[in-house]
This record gives sequence, structure tokens and C-alpha cells, in this order.
Amino acid sequence: MTAPTLPASDPVALQTAAHILREGGLVGMPTETVYGLAGNAADAETVAKLYAAKGRPRFNPLIAHVTGLEMAQTLATFSPLAARLAQEFWPGPLTLVLPKRPDAPVCDLANAGLDTIAIRAPRHEAARALLKSFGGPLVAPSANKSGGVSPTTAAHVLEGLGDQIDLVLDGGACPVGLESAVVAVEGDRATLLRPGGLDRASIEAITGPLGSPGQTNTPSSPGMLKSHYAPGASIRLNAMTAREGELLLGFGAMDCDLNLSPAGDLAEAATRLFAALRELDARGPTCIAIAPIPQTMLGEAINDRLQRAAAPRD
Ligand code: AMP
Ligand code: MG
Repeated sequence: MTAPTLPASDPVALQTAAHILREGGLVGMPTETVYGLAGNAADAETVAKLYAAKGRPRFNPLIAHVTGLEMAQTLATFSPLAARLAQEFWPGPLTLVLPKRPDAPVCDLANAGLDTIAIRAPRHEAARALLKSFGGPLVAPSANKSGGVSPTTAAHVLEGLGDQIDLVLDGGACPVGLESAVVAVEGDRATLLRPGGLDRASIEAITGPLGSPGQTNTPSSPGMLKSHYAPGASIRLNAMTAREGELLLGFGAMDCDLNLSPAGDLAEAATRLFAALRELDARGPTCIAIAPIPQTMLGEAINDRLQRAAAPRD
């Protein structure tokens, strides 16, 4: 059975979704980054069901979604730097990894038993309304099978998880199109665990130069797998032309099968990336060749996703 879809702008649909969540169900929820698979963060049974639906390894902790700083402070301890980042960028595509409070209303399974917790306040109106109506934190990893291409439309959610969830709220295409940037904050030190929909320069304007997970004494992210975001076809990066059996995904002015942004706009390319991979994959090539993407602004996160999509699969 495929889950029903309701318009995310309908207040009655939001009430229905909040009710399903209170009963321990799973809801496909639009956010500005990608569609999330939302479940009650406090309830271990729901969270176990969510890991199972995605086929996600339980060592890969989830992000708790909140309405804002006030709710977040019931989950984690905020250093002055962490509070500043939240004030500056929430609601928005920034996730903060912070010390988890012992009394946080989030089950241990959700953060894989760590003493830290990842938290984000999404900007999308429907996600905000749903969180407000639910009244507590929701875990919401991307609403797709673990390791696959992230969903940026309600149809993508149904394709991957339609028979495992209770409802999808259709909020149209996700405006950012890439997952959040994940930043761990320990006191006055910040480490970029995952580049994402908020670019490095914006974050560093507040934090100064960000540490990276490889450095000594910096936190790591247990769920950052080498192979991820993988379509059925293999991926070849930095391509200018397609070889036999390949389709070419372009960027900027060039001849290609599909273009992420003919104008060379990185924000537009980010919005289209996951849907473009799905669209080309559906045409059945052996390989999707992808044009070089500049490493500036959102290009850092786009290239991170592409490198994982191209990585050898187990
Ligand atoms: P996803 O929800 O799948 O987009 O990914 C959440 C990301 O946040 C994954 O890369 C996780 O490994 C990372 N993450 C979540 N919680 C923590 C944590 N407590 N410490 C470090 N990384 C985390
Ligand atoms: Mg994901």
C-alpha cells in the first residue's frame, strides 16, 4: 500500500500529520533541504521503526528537528558560540552537534547512544508548522533508503518509501535541495562535519576558520559513509563529454543531456542536483558523467555529494 499524500499548505493535513506522529507513525515532511522522514524523537519504538524503514545503520545518529533555540535548549547545552550560530542561522540549513542534556526528550537510539546530539530548526513553513503543532522534537533523516539519492519532491519519497510510511506532506520541490551543513561546537571551537546547504564562508564569518574532522582533537561524525547518494548507474566526475553508454550532466554553458544550471549558478545547481541524478538514472545509462563544479559557495557541498555518489559501493 502506498502512503496517502496531502498538501503541506492545508492546516487540516498538518493536524492529521501531527496526530499520526503522536501515535508513533512516520510522516514524509518537506524541509528547505530535502524531504525528511519524521518521527517522534522521544519514542524509541518509533525511532527503531524509522531506522528499519530506511535500512539505516544504527550507528548513524539522527538529527533532532526543533522549532527554534528555546526547544533546542531542552535538548543540549549551548556554549555562547553555539547560541550565536543558532541566532544567526536558524531557522535554516545548519545542524549543530552539541553536548546532549541528560534530561533531553530524545531517546538514546536517536543519537546512537553518543553524549552529543545533532539539532536543527528547519526554515520550511510546513516543517515549522508541523513541529509547532506536534510540540516536541522530531527526528527527520532524508526520506529515502539509506545510501540512495535524497528526495527533493513528494514523488521521490513515495518512490522509495511509499509502502513504509503513513503519510507524505507535499510541499513541492525543496528550495535548497542539499542536506544541512553539520557543525560540531565544543566551547568556542567549531568543526565542519559535513558541508551542506549553508556555505562555509557564511559559517566562518561567525566562527573563524572551521576545523575538519580529520584533524587531531576534532570530533568525528560516525555516519559519514564513503558511498552515499548513489543512483543505479555508476558516476564519472569532471567529464566534459559523454562516452559510449553515458549520459552527461552539465554545468554552465555546454552541450549535455541535462544541465544543472546553464547560467553556472551554484544555488540553482544545488536545487536541481538530486532530481537530475534521478532523471538521468531513469533513462538507464551505464554511467552518468558529470561536468566539473567549482568548489566555491554551495559547490563544496555539491562536490561532497558527487564524490560520495561516485565512490566504490560495497
Ligand atoms: P542525515 O540526517 O542523514 O542527513 O544526516 C545526519 C548527519 O549528522 C550524519 O552525517 C550524522 O553522522 C551526523 N550526526 C548526527 N548526530 C551526530 C552526532 N551526535 N555527532 C556527530 N555527527 C552526528
Ligand atoms: Mg540521507
